Amino acid sequence: MSFEFVTSGKPPISPREKKFSRFLLFFEDVAKVPVFGCQHCGECILSSTAFICSQRCPKRMRNGPCGGTGAGGSCEVYPERKCVWYRIYYRSKMLNRLNLLYKINKIHNWNLEGTSAWLNVFMKRIDAPIWFVRNDKKKVKEMLSDDIQRKN
Ligand code: SF4
Repeated sequence: MSFEFVTSGKPPISPREKKFSRFLLFFEDVAKVPVFGCQHCGECILSSTAFICSQRCPKRMRNGPCGGTGAGGSCEVYPERKCVWYRIYYRSKMLNRLNLLYKINKIHNWNLEGTSAWLNVFMKRIDAPIWFVRNDKKKVKEMLSDDIQRKN
């Protein structure tokens, strides 16, 4: 099985596209900043994190919590807040999207920071959002049994 861990192998953004990207980002911001608190990473993974922006994590973790989450789900950096990944887990469970947490999100390509994620999807630079999930519980069971078999 091959998997690309970074998007940096994709064609770079030309100066012309950058201008268009900035223009599109204005409209993207109107929708995504007030609703999701978008941080403009340009590589949107909202659909695999139960529509909670993982980039609001102070450590910008993209594949689960850092390991410093407190017993009650508090953030290590800002203990008065809940860990973003703690919230993502519970929202995923509620929305039957837990299996998407098994998906490995690519290492952040900082060249895409501040660009339009919509345009990056259109240009096939990043993966398209996953809107619908079917048989979540069955898929999670399969993944758990795969994990157990791998460990044995
Ligand atoms: S583009 Fe990045 S920062 Fe913005 S909502 Fe999506 S994941 Fe969060």
